[in-house]
Amino acid sequence: MISTSDDGNAPGQGIFRVIPRSHHSISRKNISNGALRVLYRLHEAGFRACLVGGAVRDLLLGNRPKDFDVATAATPEQVRTLFRNCRLIGRRFRLAHVVFGREIVEVATFRGSSDDGSGDRHLVDGRLVRDNVYGTIEEDALRRDFTINALYYDIADFSVLDAVGGMDDLQQRQLRLIGDPQQRYREDPVRMLRAARLAAKLDFSIEAATAAPFAQLGELLCEAAPARLFDESLKLFLGGYGLASLHALERHGLLEHVFPATARALQAADAAQFRALLEQTLANTDARVREDKPVTPAFLFAAMLWGPVRQRAQLGIDHGVDAATAWSQAVERVLREQAQRVAIPRRFTLAVEEIWALQARFEQRTRKRALRLLEHPRFRAAYDFLVMRSGESPELEELARWWTHLQSLGRDELVQELAGAATSAPEPTAAPAVKRKRPRRRRRKGKATPAPAAEGAE
Ligand code: ATP
Ligand code: MG
Repeated sequence: MISTSDDGNAPGQGIFRVIPRSHHSISRKNISNGALRVLYRLHEAGFRACLVGGAVRDLLLGNRPKDFDVATAATPEQVRTLFRNCRLIGRRFRLAHVVFGREIVEVATFRGSSDDGSGDRHLVDGRLVRDNVYGTIEEDALRRDFTINALYYDIADFSVLDAVGGMDDLQQRQLRLIGDPQQRYREDPVRMLRAARLAAKLDFSIEAATAAPFAQLGELLCEAAPARLFDESLKLFLGGYGLASLHALERHGLLEHVFPATARALQAADAAQFRALLEQTLANTDARVREDKPVTPAFLFAAMLWGPVRQRAQLGIDHGVDAATAWSQAVERVLREQAQRVAIPRRFTLAVEEIWALQARFEQRTRKRALRLLEHPRFRAAYDFLVMRSGESPELEELARWWTHLQSLGRDELVQELAGAATSAPEPTAAPAVKRKRPRRRRRKGKATPAPAAEGAE
């Protein structure tokens, strides 16, 4: 339980309110061994050392922290001399990583607020592109994003230090930006996404003044580094609370700045099927994360961009482009446009393209093709995606059931089952077939389901 008693106010702690060990719920037994070793070693070497950020917040809420971050007066170089298992990383934020087997403890030096030009702080148009000016713990607290992320657990006496009212906001279950929201978002627009993500993760509200600038400043997200937005997207959607994140982003009008085509497709008149597919995908992903099962960014992006790619392909078809061409143009365009916001690494976009391209091949139920598809390295992901799509039509639902059935069979049963299948490809239910050697030139109308990939479709 959180105690907000003021009894523990100790002199000499500057702007901090000190909550003594007896008045808060953080116990060392819930702190990882690695983090404790880092904290104690720094402390013994004479450096102030505190647990900080998400770990303190999560421990006070009774949740298990994902990882443990340490803030200290020691510089990264000093940290390195104390730990053999240490590497220095980062340019924008220089940090030390101390490695204990599978655990990595991130150690950051207290950041300062004053900038006399001697330190390594760099602003471009009000945006922080580098922040390596070191300072006091008080200054460090004020430079953090939300009040609930600016609480320190001091290893010296096991007290919690609060300079910004973070304890009260934890109790009120709200996210409040430290300082002037306009300025803080201009310094780093990604803080808007962090607000939505943490609200989703913790089931907190975003305090009014913290949410107010979203409408006006959301478009600053276009200027955020696409590589950083990729990292943030994974945290939003693969962190175990992806569905809540989607809803938070939509509610706060932020989705359109990171996934503009997805936001538009979710607003379209016929969005119901796409919304169902995306929400089901995110719900399943959340469940997998809870069960410690692996999740893949490719599947996530295949779902996020499925509505847009279908919409775009249909537009081409409506303009008389043949289905196969319309489809490949749509894939290229949707992925290219998305890449301007979020730098999805090539290996993932290739997998997305494959998951999409395989959709049409599920419709070819001949023995040879079915057997071949079952052995395709991307079969599993593509099949899972087919299942997600089964709400699109009764035919697809039946198709997904058939493929589910096939996989339940042993090798002999499978051969027997497929012996009854046609030996030549039947007319697919929705996607027009494309022959590799003789591409169909004739324009034809069709539905915007993917044409089979020319390669590999025999
Ligand atoms: P999670 O539990 O999802 O990891 P977190 O709050 O720990 O959430 P991190 O990205 O690990 O998030 O950041 C650790 C801490 O660093 C935050 O709690 C916050 O104090 C500070 N921080 C992170 N990003 C920013 C930012 N963009 N601006 C200011 N402070 C930040
Ligand atoms: Mg963290």
